[in-house]
Amino acid sequence: MSATKSIAHNLALIRERMAAAAVRAGRGPESITLMAVSKTVAPEHIAEAHAAGVRCFGENRVQEFTEKLPQLQHLKDAQWRLIGHLQSNKAKKTVELFHTVDSVDSLTLARKLNQAAAQAGRQLEVLLEINIGGEESKAGLAANSPELEQILQAAPELEHLRISGLMTVPPYTEDPEGARPWFRGLRQLRESITARHLPAIRMDVLSMGMSHDFEVAIEEGSTCVRVGSAIFGSRPKP
Ligand SMILES: *Cc1c(COP(=O)(O)O)cnc(C)c1O
Repeated sequence: MSATKSIAHNLALIRERMAAAAVRAGRGPESITLMAVSKTVAPEHIAEAHAAGVRCFGENRVQEFTEKLPQLQHLKDAQWRLIGHLQSNKAKKTVELFHTVDSVDSLTLARKLNQAAAQAGRQLEVLLEINIGGEESKAGLAANSPELEQILQAAPELEHLRISGLMTVPPYTEDPEGARPWFRGLRQLRESITARHLPAIRMDVLSMGMSHDFEVAIEEGSTCVRVGSAIFGSRPKP
């Protein structure tokens, strides 16, 4: 099967599985966005996913996306979201390239992005990345940490950021059910933040679930699933 046909075919199957999971959770399928995670994927295959109806794409490295973007300019209505760890010194470049940054994990980074967005004269949507399993190896703010609290409190001063929700990558387990308590934990964190009615904080987006566990994530309230290998095939090892 050609890559073209298989990408469209993979997407159709994923959309069916997403819809079924939404129904199980008593939710409308349209309440969940499918993000195609296109890191390491060549521009022509990204364009295939776009042709098959995907509009939301996730990339994890500024440098890689800088190189690919010239071949993606024709996808005018694509939304490019940065989902990988970002160093603050790349804030300016990031604001030039991406619509959103879903991986804000420090107050320093939030401030730099705010500054860069101000200089660019735009608003930047961001998500706060939560290290829900408290893993040493992962980026993200610990749930209920002082630093998360500092960002929530600083939001009104970060006038060029639109803080719109939370993102997480839970600890890996062979059985996708193992992720359920972590997904539930992120949803509960979102509910507790929402209940505080903090100024300049919105919690519309709950970005959780990947190829391996997106159905469980949808059952636990995900509004955006980030699917890479199930669409494009397995990636070369980094
Ligand atoms: C790579 C990546 C994904 C997609 O992973 P798959 O298992 O290929 O679906 C999702 N989220 C983040 C943050 C990633 O880095």
